[in-house]
Amino acid sequence: MNRVNFRVVPLATDVAQAARRAAAAGAADHVVSTVDSPESAPCRHCLRWAEPGERVVLFPFASIPAGHPYSEIGPIFVHEEECERYSATGVYPEAFRNGRVFRAYNSRYDMIDAEVANGSEPEAVIEKLLRNPETAFVDARSVTRGCFTFRLERKNENP
Ligand SMILES: [Zn+2]
Repeated sequence: MNRVNFRVVPLATDVAQAARRAAAAGAADHVVSTVDSPESAPCRHCLRWAEPGERVVLFPFASIPAGHPYSEIGPIFVHEEECERYSATGVYPEAFRNGRVFRAYNSRYDMIDAEVANGSEPEAVIEKLLRNPETAFVDARSVTRGCFTFRLERKNENP
């Protein structure tokens, strides 16, 4: 197993549950759909691709909170049914080895660096970004659509 110096931070279970409740209540900005093609809807909670036939909730998520120049709200998916939050936080999620860009932010939520990595590269790129003392966290996003996928933090912070 690849030992890494960072921690994978999947979407909080509270956020996933709130999205499922809002979708069930018919919130206009929470849309439920059935996935029809593989690798089209990554669940940010279990960190795997929803499989064709599975139902997902699409909703807006503020990966970078309001009140900053780089504030950002964007669409993300979670499984409509409860799923197990990704727990292998010391291991890079295999489902997202390709097609991710890694954006480094400082503690004021300014984006200070960004790099695309594929295949065997993500671990090294993430570690490099986190070696910069200015980096507070790194967000993995889709290269093509830009959507937030998961966060990476230094291992010893916010246990
Ligand atoms: Zn899931």
